[in-house]
Amino acid sequence: MGIKENIKHIKNKISKLKKEYNIERDISIMAATKTRNVREIQEAVDSGVEYIGENRIQEAMDKFHQLNRDVNKHFIGHLQLNKVKYAVRMFDCIQSVDRKELIDEIIKRLPGDKEYFDIFIEVNISGEKSKHGLSKDEVEKLVKYILKKDKIVLKGLMTMFPYDADKNYLLKKAKEMKNLFDNLKKYNEKKNVNLKHLSMGMSNDYEIAIEEGSNMVRLGSAIFGERSY
Ligand SMILES: *Cc1c(COP(=O)(O)O)cnc(C)c1O
Repeated sequence: MGIKENIKHIKNKISKLKKEYNIERDISIMAATKTRNVREIQEAVDSGVEYIGENRIQEAMDKFHQLNRDVNKHFIGHLQLNKVKYAVRMFDCIQSVDRKELIDEIIKRLPGDKEYFDIFIEVNISGEKSKHGLSKDEVEKLVKYILKKDKIVLKGLMTMFPYDADKNYLLKKAKEMKNLFDNLKKYNEKKNVNLKHLSMGMSNDYEIAIEEGSNMVRLGSAIFGERSY
């Protein structure tokens, strides 16, 4: 199947899940576009994907100037401090914020034409050593740090599940994320915390993630086919 057919198939699947689980909320589809070329990304956007996510600054630089599409661009990879100055110019949001230094640098590097910058906090819900992100217990502290800052708005949480976990484990971790997300919404009264997006679910596990409360799934291979690294 091609990109367009894949997206249609995913949208159908999401509609079915919404019926099955009585889900009323909107569920956004992000195309995870690492290793995909500009033509493939354009096709995904033209087929109704509202968000794209890139993992590497250099790769985004190479592609975005040719993209020619109006689409929300999020950074979803691990971000080094010395790359923040590029990220805040090219992207609408950074989903992978996991430390204070990154927040300070985003504020410091904010271009003059932007009043504020949207971020998500990345949570390492499985505790795997190979994964970036804060542990569940560290998140609230970073939220409190954000509350003291201007020019930055916390819009969501992002997580990645282990690649080969079984369904029960995924259900449990997805529930933990949803609980954390709902608990942190108490800060939504405050000026620069506006938690709306729970970004969880990839090609392998997006159905479980939706079942448990995700409202943004980040899909690579389900949209574009297998990646060849
Ligand atoms: C690659 C990637 C995805 C999508 O992975 P697939 O398994 O191809 O769907 C989602 N999120 C992040 C952060 C990624 O790096």
